[in-house]
Amino acid sequence: MKKMAVYPGSFDPFTKGHENIVNKALDLFDEIIIGIGVNTTKSTLFTLEKRIEHIKSLYPNQDRLKVISYSGLTSDFCKQHHSKYIIRGLRNGKDFDYETPISQTNKILAPDIETIYLTSDLEYSYIQSTIIREIHKSGGIIDTFVTNAHILVK
Ligand code: ADP
Repeated sequence: MKKMAVYPGSFDPFTKGHENIVNKALDLFDEIIIGIGVNTTKSTLFTLEKRIEHIKSLYPNQDRLKVISYSGLTSDFCKQHHSKYIIRGLRNGKDFDYETPISQTNKILAPDIETIYLTSDLEYSYIQSTIIREIHKSGGIIDTFVTNAHILVK
């Protein structure tokens, strides 16, 4: 049976840090679903369509990766796609503190689903989507932090 994992996030935008985590996950799993969580109460800078188009552009020949949006619980999304694993990326201890109660709560909601933490490589661990959005909003260039940024900003 194929080993599937869901990598959920808002990816507003999808950075080189996220890319680093996906590349590690592709070494561990047969198939990765990048799940773009749509939260009706949370507005994003980049539209859902742009984020999907951008992420897909990074993996044009990778048939082991899908990009799908979802609303509702991540654990329900995992069940729907027969994934027993959720991937989360850790940059530092603050991420660990934030992620731990989420993964523990998910374990109660869906005991069969395991959260796997992958640590980002040092050169990507400072990258934050929040800062990149601020740079973009102020007219700065985000290419250093985002591969194929032209797709997002066109
Ligand atoms: P969310 O809104 O769910 O926190 P994000 O798009 O901000 O979604 O992040 C998705 C996942 O990627 C989270 O697990 C986050 O910790 C991780 N992540 C974000 N930036 C980086 C980075 N630079 N390196 C590694 N992991 C990262």
